[in-house]
Amino acid sequence: MHRQHSHFHCTRCDRTFCLDDAGMPAQPAAPRVPSGFAIEHVELTVSGVCAECGARMPRRPADTP
Ligand SMILES: [Zn+2]
Ligand SMILES: [Zn+2]
Repeated sequence: MHRQHSHFHCTRCDRTFCLDDAGMPAQPAAPRVPSGFAIEHVELTVSGVCAECGARMPRRPADTP
């Protein structure tokens, strides 16, 4: 069962990783919603490159002419 936690989405391999509370805000700030709407779940998703892809990619691809 998914409890409230953050996710990391890798933009290279398109995988989503569950992040534990460590290092992440436990409760992302709830956004404002129109009146009549009720928030049941707030989730923070971080986008970037995972360790696996990061190791595979050259560090600075734009550096080579
Ligand atoms: Zn990846
Ligand atoms: Zn998850």
